Amino acid sequence: MNIDGNTQIIGFIGSTYKTSIMYPMYNAAFKALNLNYIYLPFVVNNLKKAVEGIRNLGIKGTGVTIPYKIKIIKFLDELDKNALRIGAVNVVLNKNGKLVGGNTDGLGALKALKESTTIKGKRIILMGAGGAARAIAFALKDEGGDLIIANRTEKTGQELAKTVGCQFIQLNQVNKKVIKADILINATVVGMNPKENALPVENEFITSSLVVLDLVTNPKETKLLKEAKEKRCKIIYGERMLLWQAVIKFKLFTGIDAPIKEMERILYD
Ligand code: NAP
Repeated sequence: MNIDGNTQIIGFIGSTYKTSIMYPMYNAAFKALNLNYIYLPFVVNNLKKAVEGIRNLGIKGTGVTIPYKIKIIKFLDELDKNALRIGAVNVVLNKNGKLVGGNTDGLGALKALKESTTIKGKRIILMGAGGAARAIAFALKDEGGDLIIANRTEKTGQELAKTVGCQFIQLNQVNKKVIKADILINATVVGMNPKENALPVENEFITSSLVVLDLVTNPKETKLLKEAKEKRCKIIYGERMLLWQAVIKFKLFTGIDAPIKEMERILYD
């Protein structure tokens, strides 16, 4: 990599800045296309000043993750339509000094799902009502999915269901409803390291006709996915969504289609 005065800088903002797979993935992708770009960790001490740094240092854009996806919004100049309805941002683009927030999580999840199934008319249970679930809920509704939202906290779940126009159920009601569902999506943190033994739905209710996507990427194969695999369901790892949302961001950062095979190679290395 030759860094010079024309090198475009893309940053990463979030608590996982030390361990993110995004550095090798994006830097390999830039190299594969011979693009004069670099992807770097940004350590945030003061979010407002960090955002001003993006603007004033001519940083081309940043990936954004927990805990800044919502907090960063008030420091941006504009949100695109999608980020506006979701109320969370996972990418910031510097358009000649104007900082615009976007969100690629919903489209990333759709791409991951479409590798295994179609969406239109499918009965889908989406567990969770946090940032990722919000992004996915809108994307699934856009595609004509027949959606039910299930969440531990009724208020946030009800609010999301009302906003996207679908049914809400309590998380503990998923057991009963899942029998009639085509697709089950876990967008909660249940099953995430270090509580890897937790299941958001009891395994006896999982049947072979279900397609199961678990957003959790640590561990790669969650207990939910293990149980679903044993029942011969089609399973989709969270890392497929991770890949696709990054692929979509690559195009936003560079204006060029991502070298998907190269990004996949790094992800599975
Ligand atoms: P978030 O905004 O903090 O939302 C967390 C969700 O988990 C909420 O619905 C919350 O429910 C639920 N939850 C938390 N503890 C729970 C418990 N003990 N029992 C039941 N539900 C519980 O987080 P997020 O950004 O949406 O992320 C959610 C998951 O998706 C994380 O595992 C994250 O790593 C993953 N993710 C993956 C990708 C990918 O590309 N694969 C992208 C984004 C996120 P309440 O409302 O009741 O608190």
